[in-house]
Amino acid sequence: MTVKRGLLIGRMQPIHKGHVQVILKTLEEVDEVIIGVGSAQESHTVTNPFTAGERVLMIEQALADEGVDSSRYYIIPMEDIYTNAIWVSYVKMMTPPFSIVFSGNPLVQRLFYEEDFEVKAPPLFNRTLLSGTEVRKRMINGGNWQELVPKKTIELINEIDGINRIRHLAKKELSER
Ligand code: NAD
Repeated sequence: MTVKRGLLIGRMQPIHKGHVQVILKTLEEVDEVIIGVGSAQESHTVTNPFTAGERVLMIEQALADEGVDSSRYYIIPMEDIYTNAIWVSYVKMMTPPFSIVFSGNPLVQRLFYEEDFEVKAPPLFNRTLLSGTEVRKRMINGGNWQELVPKKTIELINEIDGINRIRHLAKKELSER
């Protein structure tokens, strides 16, 4: 039997409970999922506070905590490239072969659709609250960001002093205006 493999790519800055739900949902449809950690070159900014390595760890720990067998996923950091028109080829070069793409991002959907991939938009889980923007806003403003992310992610962010990092960066960017 051929392995049915799907791709899910996201910045995961940081991973939140919506991402976890979407990964679990994807695993109901495919044998293996490739989780692309997008914009891997980005870190230490207000919109992209965490490094690719930190994000890999967040995903791995969250999935282990959910009891997902690690043989069912690959986590692959992927840097952005300037040229959207050849991005799909670049992603293919960096990943095991896959036949289906799961994304709610219109640009990602369009680029894979034009290269004849099957593209599916996964259902959104409480998108108003479960978004990276909301998590980062709460981290900066002292809100309850913890309720939006997996338990293990709270521990990791505390361990790497992530809240002080994003608050420090937010201050710096404000004073530069
Ligand atoms: P994201 O972290 O915002 O989302 C990842 C996925 O999770 C998306 O499919 C999104 O729909 C889904 N999701 C998020 N919240 C959800 C919720 N509450 N419920 C259900 N699903 C939810 O990441 P993104 O912006 O989609 O990531 C795309 C990545 O691809 C970026 O890093 C981008 O730079 C990269 N990209 C690069 C190029 C290029 O290099 N030229 C081109 C296109 C895309």
